[in-house]
Amino acid sequence: MSVAFSISEDSFYHEPSFSLSLEDNIHTFSQTNLMSNVSLYNDMEDGRGHADARVFAGTYEQDIARAASLISSAKHAIALTGAGVSVESGIPTFRGRDGLWNKYNPIELATPEAFARNPVLVWKWYAWRIGLVMSAVPSAAHSALYDMEKMGVIKWVITQNVDDLHERAGSRNVVHLHGIILRARCTKCDYSIWWNDVPKIPPIPKCESCGEPLRPDVIWFGEPLNEEALSKAWGIAQSSDLILVIGTSAVVYPAAAIPLVVKENGGKIVEINPDVTPLTPYADVYIKEGASYALRKILEALKK
Ligand SMILES: [Zn+2]
Repeated sequence: MSVAFSISEDSFYHEPSFSLSLEDNIHTFSQTNLMSNVSLYNDMEDGRGHADARVFAGTYEQDIARAASLISSAKHAIALTGAGVSVESGIPTFRGRDGLWNKYNPIELATPEAFARNPVLVWKWYAWRIGLVMSAVPSAAHSALYDMEKMGVIKWVITQNVDDLHERAGSRNVVHLHGIILRARCTKCDYSIWWNDVPKIPPIPKCESCGEPLRPDVIWFGEPLNEEALSKAWGIAQSSDLILVIGTSAVVYPAAAIPLVVKENGGKIVEINPDVTPLTPYADVYIKEGASYALRKILEALKK
């Protein structure tokens, strides 16, 4: 398998944007067809109505019951989580909310070029974000996913989020597609560290092994995904027969392709999102709801 992805760590709890090139046929669904379907869908004047007609077959309670039933009968169910899960932990999104960083475009801070130009500025921004993550607490959504892992119904959580809230809720099997903000790695050697406290900037942190600057261990705009994380996520998706897609707009690759890999292999998609996404027409059950509320309801149904 040879996959070249170019991705970007966007902002805190906003979806990164990706550009993708598939160097060979890694799976049978057609990327081109998928993308044209998605854009057709988006081009429709009333795309939302289209999706509603397509997926809202039952009442809300019926959808919850059906989601729970699909999850409990799956042999290898997994979850894909995005911004919508972390937002419910009470951390503000940084766009337009924090005066300190309002004048900066996150896209101009989360790049290798920005770091080369002004590492102190980039590190100050990350220190602020690290502080937000450290003071946040897992939401009911994080806890429900942990409960489902304990019950043996969810095998893995693949997350686009760079915080550690799944782990702090108790989840053990977590793959971070976009890295983790609480870790820093050397720009030159293999050295990495975890932050126990918010780093004090300046000075910028240096590698204890070789003395070169450390950088946040996240994926920046224009950088490829971590190959190990990506191939792990891909392997997990390929052996799964159900994916719960929660709080992600499912428009960015490769994360967006993961549910479709499951679908292509005959698996089911259960989507939880307050807003219809390009994935919604592919979902077997779509629950138009925030992550915490919907997952708690599903968990209750699973326990019955
Ligand atoms: Zn080093």
